[in-house]
Amino acid sequence: SSPQNITDEKLLERIEKHPCYSEQAHHHYARMHVAVAPACNIQCNYCNRKYDCANESRPGVVSELLTPEEAAHKVLVVAGKIPQMTVLGIAGPGDPLANPEKTFRTFELIADKAPDIKLCLSTNGLMLPDYIDRIKALNIDHVTITINMVDPEIGEKIYPWVHYRRRRYRGIEGVRILHERQMEGLDALREADILCKVNSVMIPGINDEHLQEVHEVVRSKGAFLHNIMPLISAPEHGTHFGLTGQRGPTPKELKTLQDNCADGLKLMRHCRQCRADAVGLLGEDRSQEFTKDKFMEMPEEYNL
Ligand code: SF4
Ligand code: SF4
Repeated sequence: SSPQNITDEKLLERIEKHPCYSEQAHHHYARMHVAVAPACNIQCNYCNRKYDCANESRPGVVSELLTPEEAAHKVLVVAGKIPQMTVLGIAGPGDPLANPEKTFRTFELIADKAPDIKLCLSTNGLMLPDYIDRIKALNIDHVTITINMVDPEIGEKIYPWVHYRRRRYRGIEGVRILHERQMEGLDALREADILCKVNSVMIPGINDEHLQEVHEVVRSKGAFLHNIMPLISAPEHGTHFGLTGQRGPTPKELKTLQDNCADGLKLMRHCRQCRADAVGLLGEDRSQEFTKDKFMEMPEEYNL
């Protein structure tokens, strides 16, 4: 049977209003991201920290950082103005779980004031096993982990260091920790019955030939959706930490890899690599209508 035809009704219900998890939904339902999480606990070679997390967001964009209270206010304003707004995600500008106080405070405020809005979280996975219970308790039904490798030797070319439990681990030692934690996180999400999307950044010459193996592994561990995204590197984003001159894949290279992976685990092909403060339908970014100077003046219009 085709993986694109989901027949399980309960599952359908869980994704039918989520524009990223359901391709049908992305024409009708909107999502927003709030940028409340500035810190990060790893270094990706393609990340320039001046900008939003390149694992889940549009590269080269600087989102406006908000406090949890400002973020909750913004969500209630936007949900009043855009009734199709069904999903609130936290995806940056750093790693949400490297900022657990800010991230969970924001989710708590929104779960309390706007319980109909679905909550969604993206992470590099390093701290995910520690927070599964909290994620489950808050009813966060969608979690994205960015997994770029399942072989630490390949990971060494992507991650120069990992900061874990108050220590910095360089090289392969750090990558092994990251890999083990990502695998543990996948297992824990499956056991907790939380839908998991995996993002992978395709980096030519580094992990392009390896991503099919990543695909197999995340499928066997029960991920719901795999989103293979192109590395977007542009000179105006500044020098990448360790991949100077690195090119992104061509559309054809990306499509060939995606086609080779179309074998049972759904692939997401409609990701728009949104900003960490994106608002609106996918592909229709309304973030500039809701900058802080504007939304702080607007009343919270969301009604239960
Ligand atoms: Fe940058 Fe995101 Fe990687 Fe952290 S996880 S280094 S914010 S791309
Ligand atoms: Fe959805 Fe991709 Fe945008 Fe995240 S970055 S909200 S997965 S379209």
